[in-house]
Amino acid sequence: MRTEIESLGEFGLIEHLTKNNETVQAGTILSIGDDAAVIDQFGRQSVISTDLLLEGIHFDLMYTPLKHLGYKAVAVNLSDIYAMFATPTHITMSLGISNKMSVEAVEEFYEGVYAACAKFNVDLIGGDTSSSKTGFIISVTVIGEVAPDKYVTRSGAKVNDLICVSGDLGGAYLGLQLLEREKRLFLENPNIQPDLKSQAYLVGRILKPEPRADIVEWLQEAGITPTSMIDISDGLSSEILHICTKSDVGCLIYEEKIPVHEDARKLAIEFQVGSAACALSGGEDYELLFTVRQEDYERVAKHPGISVIGYITGKYDGTHLLTKSGNKHKLTAQGWNAF
Ligand code: ADP
Ligand code: MG
Repeated sequence: MRTEIESLGEFGLIEHLTKNNETVQAGTILSIGDDAAVIDQFGRQSVISTDLLLEGIHFDLMYTPLKHLGYKAVAVNLSDIYAMFATPTHITMSLGISNKMSVEAVEEFYEGVYAACAKFNVDLIGGDTSSSKTGFIISVTVIGEVAPDKYVTRSGAKVNDLICVSGDLGGAYLGLQLLEREKRLFLENPNIQPDLKSQAYLVGRILKPEPRADIVEWLQEAGITPTSMIDISDGLSSEILHICTKSDVGCLIYEEKIPVHEDARKLAIEFQVGSAACALSGGEDYELLFTVRQEDYERVAKHPGISVIGYITGKYDGTHLLTKSGNKHKLTAQGWNAF
């Protein structure tokens, strides 16, 4: 008997492989199923997450500068630690290096790695290096710290909590569409040089995402602890559904409240896609999606980098999007999926 991986999908496969996973260590506070795991070592809590980036699946070296890739490989991992309301402290970096790459190329990649480490105050403390026959392979593990039991999971959202998102969404997806279009044009006619300067914002969103350390710091300083949190790697729909499933609640999101950058709005029209669809089903924005109590509304709403986009409902109310035209749609996860 043979079951195709597509029949389960990425999340289905993880669930299938880990549903009987039992932990035996007293220090395992939070295991599989969130943005990161939490372990307790003699009263101190560490948060751990790992991510894999593969050439041809997650990035295309034709239009990805290596320095940006190094920065991004670190950034997307840090994002998972911030999504736990924790602070990253250390990373390890493991590489499978393809024979197409020179020392100078790997050096350039490391310039980006070190730039991200410096910016977010994390130490590179190890890794592993091998050759690869299937393109460039990057695996980063990140460790962070959090005050005992102050981490925030995907599972704490309560009915009537407000749903908040940082920054703007859909930009990374549109930036990627732009790079893919320029790549096609270039392959058809290598004499055409792409002019992407006017689209620096959207291209930057896909090539050089910024983990939202600033949002976590602001919330911590303001004394606002989200009831649940996740980072947006696969699109808003997929991520809010993770929160709803894990928290056993429903949600109502207002399409008109979803933050979209002006450049994204314009390019979405050019590509004839809805900008809200890009926010809901695109991915790689690496913004934070979180829920707060009603009493925190005013302070959160005043922050220019945070949008309140809806609220948590009862489980049996379902998970819905209220469109600009007033229609209620059931939210489905069409998030970006590596399979
Ligand atoms: P994220 O998008 O935040 O990186 P993922 O969707 O990759 O999260 O992973 C969801 C959860 O499943 C995490 O807790 C992760 O550690 C766990 N996980 C992913 N792949 C595996 C695997 N092959 N074996 C065990 N756990 C896994
Ligand atoms: Mg995550």
